Amino acid sequence: MLSLWDAHMHSDFSGDANTKPENMIVAAKALSMPGITFTDHLDLDYREEPGLFDLDVSSYHSTIKSLSEKESTEDFSILLGIELGLQPHAANAYELLLKEYSFDFVIGSTHVIRGEDPYYPKYFSTRDEKAAFLQYYEMILENIQAFDQFDSLGHLDYCFRYGPYARPDMDTYTPYAEIVDAILSTIIKKDIALEVNTGSFRCGLMEPNPCIAIIKRYRELGGYLLTIGSDAHKTEHIGLHFDDIPDLLKSCGFKEYHVYKNRTPIAFPLD
Ligand SMILES: [Zn+2]
Ligand SMILES: [Zn+2]
Repeated sequence: MLSLWDAHMHSDFSGDANTKPENMIVAAKALSMPGITFTDHLDLDYREEPGLFDLDVSSYHSTIKSLSEKESTEDFSILLGIELGLQPHAANAYELLLKEYSFDFVIGSTHVIRGEDPYYPKYFSTRDEKAAFLQYYEMILENIQAFDQFDSLGHLDYCFRYGPYARPDMDTYTPYAEIVDAILSTIIKKDIALEVNTGSFRCGLMEPNPCIAIIKRYRELGGYLLTIGSDAHKTEHIGLHFDDIPDLLKSCGFKEYHVYKNRTPIAFPLD
């Protein structure tokens, strides 16, 4: 069985996770992965719960660097990444941060739409299904246009995990094809990878984020850079549903996925 690199996980440096990075490493090693990339949260100006996703970048950076030096082996590597919560007005601050600190990998994720996170029911209380999801996609496009200094677009259809309209098998592509195509074309042009995020499965969905139709469409439009992550916030989430991912990606037309080291993609085979 092919073991995949898990390039999206959180430790207790993230405001919504409690597991020490050392324990995430022990758990990942037991799964015989070739490596992991820590991607703790930084969401500047997170208005739902101010300060929740602030990150002590200096301490995070030095801790993971030193763990990487101590705990990496010939068969298992530990890389240092970050998941930036995008908002157009945060673009300058993120650019400065990435000048000050070097990371192996930067995920750009849209968690909020004009300050509101669809994780909370309030977002859906004022929007019908179409408006709720369309506004999320429009926000992603606006975020990428404001800031594109990241390597992989995190969990593209994240909004579909939550709220009263969520269904396990919902089509997150067809009703929104025009805006999703615009997002995919933009990242392809900018050499930004698409992330395949299996955190969806612990939220009750039957496909990764984004859904299979979007991954196929990315390939059709010429996209080839893919990263894979479980979005683990606990040890038991590491590598969630990874056994199914190689066949799923091959059925979408891909032969390899990528791991970013020093902000450069390295291709790994899917079989
Ligand atoms: Zn995220
Ligand atoms: Zn995450």
